[in-house]
Amino acid sequence: MTDTLYDAIIVGGGPAGLNAALYLGRSCRKVALIDSGDPRNLAAGVMHNMITNDGVTVEEFRRRSRADLEPYDVTCFEDVVDTTTPAADRITVTTSDSGTLHGRTLLWAAGVRSRLPEIPGLPELWGKQVFECPYCHAWEVRGKSFGVFGGEVPSECLAATLTTWSPSVTYLTGARQLPDDEAGRLRAAGIPSVTDKVLGVRADPEGVAVSLADGSSRTFGALFLHMDTEPRIGPLRDWLGAQDLESVQIDERGRTRHPRLYVAGDLGKNMQQATMAAASGGLAGMAINSDLVREDRPGSLYDLPAVPE
Ligand SMILES: Cc1cc2nc3c(=O)[nH]c(=O)nc-3n(C[C@H](O)[C@H](O)[C@H](O)COP(=O)(O)OP(=O)(O)OC[C@H]3O[C@@H](n4cnc5c(N)ncnc54)[C@H](O)[C@@H]3O)c2cc1C
Repeated sequence: MTDTLYDAIIVGGGPAGLNAALYLGRSCRKVALIDSGDPRNLAAGVMHNMITNDGVTVEEFRRRSRADLEPYDVTCFEDVVDTTTPAADRITVTTSDSGTLHGRTLLWAAGVRSRLPEIPGLPELWGKQVFECPYCHAWEVRGKSFGVFGGEVPSECLAATLTTWSPSVTYLTGARQLPDDEAGRLRAAGIPSVTDKVLGVRADPEGVAVSLADGSSRTFGALFLHMDTEPRIGPLRDWLGAQDLESVQIDERGRTRHPRLYVAGDLGKNMQQATMAAASGGLAGMAINSDLVREDRPGSLYDLPAVPE
């Protein structure tokens, strides 16, 4: 238990939380950054589309980002936030090992979890030969044959987009009956379908081997798929009053319907990419700083628009 009152407690030390910490640290704010060390992209190992840092390892990105915070009043905790409790003028956070922390504001940047479909072998290949984002991963496998698994979450638009990187894209329907619009888009893109159920995937010297229900197997250079995600907001659930943070976010700076609660990164209304997450963390950092100025010097800044009903 510490009596320190932080200007901002940031939960999540991915690109969103780290960049918010940088903005707030450089705004002379006292910041606690709490991170449990399991970011969404850990399976991939490297990050692409990071200008000046394309292909940096996730570990190195996080190490360098934390080093950038050292000159500022930012305390980093390697810990898990278990509960959060709002009060009139602060939010209290309990952690697994570091006790209880108090903040004037809370930035929730804990990211989302990808929900892989239950296909044997898929978790082992995730981030290595099986991917979701073409912009993050397709360059490394360009020109190879791609399978796109649309068996659980329709992925025909992903398949069409992937024709940018390969002339050979095959759609795996997982034995699902495709609705007309999905089938139409595949036809328009000139993408053939394999309609058998997918029984499993395994690594192959060529990339990925996909076992099908008819006993055959297809090999691709890489497999892509869309999937559902799960917001990592467990410790907010008791009082959030919503299934996710996106639905309570009220502006592009990460403000929410709850005073003192802000959101950034994959959890907010952002394209789920590392640079977008970092940008949204910067915006939230600026919002937090200016809202604290508003609170400390009433009338000194323009009024925020009324929160829509
Ligand atoms: C396999 C894969 C590869 C990807 N590759 C790329 C790429 O190459 N380029 C790109 O731009 N994007 C890539 N992405 C997308 C990118 O990973 C996300 O957009 C980005 O990580 C989002 O940043 P974030 O800060 O919102 O969340 P995250 O990076 O997921 O960070 C959230 C942090 O919060 C912490 N946390 C969660 N809950 C708690 C808690 N209760 N207490 C304390 N800490 C907590 C976690 O440990 C984690 O470190 C990839 C995604 C995947 C799935």
